[in-house]
Amino acid sequence: MGKIRRLSEEVIRKIAAGEVIERPASVVKELIENSIDASADRISIKLESGGKKLIRVIDNGEGMTKDDLLLSVERYTTSKISSAVDLSNLRTLGFRGEALSSIAAVSKLSISSKPKDQLVGYKIEVEEGRILFLEEVGIPEGTVVEVRDLFFNVPARKKFLKTEKVELEHSIDEILRFSICYTHIGFSVEHGKKELLNLPPTDDPIKRFSMLFGEDVADDIKRVSEEYDDIVIDAYLTTSIMRLKPDRLFFYVNRRNIRDREMIYSVLKAYDQRIIKGEYPQGAVFIEIDPRKVDFNVHPQKTEVRFQDEKVYSRIASCVKKLFKKSIKFPVSASFPKEESFLFVKEKRASYKTKKIPQIIGQVGKRYIVCEAEEGLLLIDQHGAHERIIYERMKKEIRKEGVQKVIEPKRIELDPEGALVLRKNLDIFRKMKIEIREFGKNTFIIDSYPEVLKGADWKKIINEFLRAKKGYEIFEEALKILACHSAIKAGDELSIIQMKNLVKELYETSIPTNCPHGRPIFHLITYRQLERMFKK
Ligand code: ADP
Ligand code: MG
Repeated sequence: MGKIRRLSEEVIRKIAAGEVIERPASVVKELIENSIDASADRISIKLESGGKKLIRVIDNGEGMTKDDLLLSVERYTTSKISSAVDLSNLRTLGFRGEALSSIAAVSKLSISSKPKDQLVGYKIEVEEGRILFLEEVGIPEGTVVEVRDLFFNVPARKKFLKTEKVELEHSIDEILRFSICYTHIGFSVEHGKKELLNLPPTDDPIKRFSMLFGEDVADDIKRVSEEYDDIVIDAYLTTSIMRLKPDRLFFYVNRRNIRDREMIYSVLKAYDQRIIKGEYPQGAVFIEIDPRKVDFNVHPQKTEVRFQDEKVYSRIASCVKKLFKKSIKFPVSASFPKEESFLFVKEKRASYKTKKIPQIIGQVGKRYIVCEAEEGLLLIDQHGAHERIIYERMKKEIRKEGVQKVIEPKRIELDPEGALVLRKNLDIFRKMKIEIREFGKNTFIIDSYPEVLKGADWKKIINEFLRAKKGYEIFEEALKILACHSAIKAGDELSIIQMKNLVKELYETSIPTNCPHGRPIFHLITYRQLERMFKK
């Protein structure tokens, strides 16, 4: 006898279930997808013990007949596609016909459902894939799915579940992802006896953001969209209030939430220097694309996609860039409430020219320039401002032919390892019009450099350069290091004339709002905010 045996249907089901159902949140996701596909506009979710004990999803969608109900829990049964051709033209969230059967294989499942034109509804109970009974029930139109004791029969899986709190967080995260895209659906969520969310339907995504993440975030969200011949992009993103994780940056392709690192990268590319490294904007990017040009059938959990054309990514970046073409603003602290928190200046250059340059009042802490602006009190970080100016001037100098130079040799001593790295990178400095030559053992002489870098602290520059990560961005990085260590510092006293010149030059740069590392340079406190501070 051979060694190969056919697995029993029960084992097959459990193995297959493992690919779709990983934890309570996967059940929540699959059930909500089904409710959305059934055109529900009201979905209530109830969880107990983080979903480990109970997950109940009630919808007011189209429901199922008795026959469909019985079929729905079988493997690979679906009403959403009927042939392989349909796979390349998907318009529903579900299509694999395996969610309910997978859930049935690893839990105690009951489904009650009533379609519109039927007087009574039906309920089935299923355990380990076997239908225990079918009975008539009186329920309103729609479907109720109850999943109890998830993984009661798969101890290996159950063991890997996290605490109730963590599992609950995963489920809430899935619900959030749907609620951002399906704003016309009302969602409510209960955990035990506690109501966690109650989101009424709305046609304005920003209102949803406001309900989910607060008014300040919603107020900071700007919308930009772009239509290309084969793809439409609609982005809602914050420009000031950032997070240290991309946990509130959502992407949807044809209204399906997907997780794609490259999309995050495309957005960050568009923000360029307007964001600090390691920070992420909040909001959502909706992509509509011809379903024939995208493959959703990459993974059982359907959170990955493959595009026929990689141009999607560059299009996301070019659409998001429009956020900054439209308006420029002084970043303001997130703690201030509402409308008047922001000052928008349309058409940057034109309006900067027509607007008065703020009146300089003085310097505080030898760090910040205090100005009186039309809209209120304006604080400018002197170091960041100067860094921005030097950075942009250096970029210009590099391209120019004859550059004003400082010829004043400076000697730098390094350890052997540092000397090795610098020796290898001398051409990068040469490209920046900085002449460095080796002068005996581990010693280098900086012969000349552009005048913009007059105040440079060369020891710091070289040392930081040696510490910086090597990579394709090393040139960019070197420019930032140069700008940082040549700029005036916190603690440098400035005269009114110096401050005036600094502010004037800053306003002529291409990104006056942020230093090359992405930190804000301005902070505006409007008169309204001042009045509130003084309770007027
Ligand atoms: P899929 O969603 O991939 O089709 P599922 O196993 O999730 O597979 O569901 C099987 C079928 O059961 C669906 O195609 C649909 O016809 C029906 N169904 C499931 N949930 C609902 C629901 N909430 N309302 C109406 N029909 C449902
Ligand atoms: Mg489904």
